[in-house]
Amino acid sequence: MKVYYDLHIHSALSPCASDDMTPLNIVAMASVKGLDVIAINDHNSIENVAAAMECGRDFDVMVIPSMEVQTAEDIHVLTMFEDFSSLKAFHDTLTKRQIANDEHIFGRQLIFDCDNNIIGKENILLMAGVLENINTVIERAQKYGGVAAPAHIDRPQNGILAILGDVPIDLPITTLEFSKYASDNIKERYKRYNQIYNSDAHRPEDISDKTNWLEIEKLSPKSFLKAVRGGI
Ligand SMILES: [Zn+2]
Ligand SMILES: [Zn+2]
Repeated sequence: MKVYYDLHIHSALSPCASDDMTPLNIVAMASVKGLDVIAINDHNSIENVAAAMECGRDFDVMVIPSMEVQTAEDIHVLTMFEDFSSLKAFHDTLTKRQIANDEHIFGRQLIFDCDNNIIGKENILLMAGVLENINTVIERAQKYGGVAAPAHIDRPQNGILAILGDVPIDLPITTLEFSKYASDNIKERYKRYNQIYNSDAHRPEDISDKTNWLEIEKLSPKSFLKAVRGGI
């Protein structure tokens, strides 16, 4: 079956995202846009994922438990898992840089329930990243059954190409995420990888339209992640 996806959406927990990006609003907008599968990928945190998964069940939108990790090299990597407990176990192994968030400079980092109520906020600056390097992040995500894909690899900020100059051939990945601005040259150069395209939305209106799709065997996180890996 063919499913339409957007696997890179920031909730209001990310300081750079709009406060309108509640789990409920995100899932509702994804439903309006006709998406079948989405993922909330906040920076180094997972506090709005469970609520989004709960909302997703009401809207028939499958929410893949995910997080966008900022590695020690400041490279962004999408990490996606079959279930919330695997994501949480992975998340809990990471060491976050302990820098306090200044809301007036960076924005609020809000945690919601499934009914749009604020139930907390994160005080550590989530854009500060973790102490683990990219190899460790990828290998550890895989240890918990997850898929890791360097994010927006063509982007000058936090993309692997800008920071390392290339995708190291020995990096144990099969999938790369490209921004919507990626050139045909870059897509061609990395055609040996499975390529995914997401919105990296920080506002509800920026969530992907029904554009990017994958062919999967059945509608389950396991089957979907198999397709993200490129069937490997
Ligand atoms: Zn990013
Ligand atoms: Zn992002």
